[in-house]
Amino acid sequence: MAGLSVHSVLVTGANRGIGLGLVQHFLRMPKPPQWIFAGCRDPKGQRAQELQNLASKHSNIIIIPLEVSDPASIKAAAAKVGEHLGGSGLNLLINNAGLLKARTLDTETLEDMSEVYTTNTIGPLLMAQAFLPLLKKAAQGSPGSGLSCSKAAIVNISSTGGSIGALLTWNRIQATSYRCSKAALNMLSKCQSLAYKEHGILCVALHPGWVQTDLGAAAGLPPPTTVDDSVQGILKVLSSLSEKETGAFLDWEGKVIPW
Ligand code: NDP
Repeated sequence: MAGLSVHSVLVTGANRGIGLGLVQHFLRMPKPPQWIFAGCRDPKGQRAQELQNLASKHSNIIIIPLEVSDPASIKAAAAKVGEHLGGSGLNLLINNAGLLKARTLDTETLEDMSEVYTTNTIGPLLMAQAFLPLLKKAAQGSPGSGLSCSKAAIVNISSTGGSIGALLTWNRIQATSYRCSKAALNMLSKCQSLAYKEHGILCVALHPGWVQTDLGAAAGLPPPTTVDDSVQGILKVLSSLSEKETGAFLDWEGKVIPW
């Protein structure tokens, strides 16, 4: 991954699925990040076992307790990451944690709409706010005026499920709360790109493909794409991004997705 060289990265929801895959692939890079912060809401739980095993073998993985729907947890995570980084900034924030409730339009509830929106949309908003000082610091510490993921970037893992122009799989899964949350995440990504460009921070929304994870299996059919292939594609796309792509909605193969 010659084009992507980061000193530090934070991945939310890093204990399983695509998040864990990202951590594994960062480790395998020719020049792995010095700091891989792995956000996980229950580090001692059963679902964090694989991440714990990985962290016990690699001292550059730091598990950060992080519940993205809880502002206090986000604040504590930002302080902890800042401590580890000493005076340096955070190059890459990957807002990956996400939640899908496979309800039909008729059975959506206030509780599910709120929970999914809080996790998938408000979480990435609060994360970016809390980590902005560290992202700015990374941008300031990096030479050159252009934007790149090696310098400073926010990557919001979105979904074609939130695309209004290319609405897919409605007949298979309605999941309105999920679709609305990802459509809103796309708008958030655009807003972030406009606000943070002047700080040297690139922002994108990225669809990871239909991937073999618990969430990916919710549509009832086996997803076609492995976590490895998805993550390899995502990292290749990230390595190629510049100021031209900030504010874009892309997929794991670099294709532009209609809003
Ligand atoms: P998984 O269900 O495998 O993993 C979801 C991850 O998010 C878990 O680590 C989970 O933690 C974490 N998480 C959920 N809610 C919170 C929260 N409130 N705070 C902190 N962490 C949380 O999903 P995927 O790996 O498939 O999904 C990753 C991202 O990719 C999501 O944003 C999803 O919307 C997106 N995506 C996935 C697709 C697919 O086909 N898989 C398709 C399109 C988009 P825990 O283990 O504690 O529950």
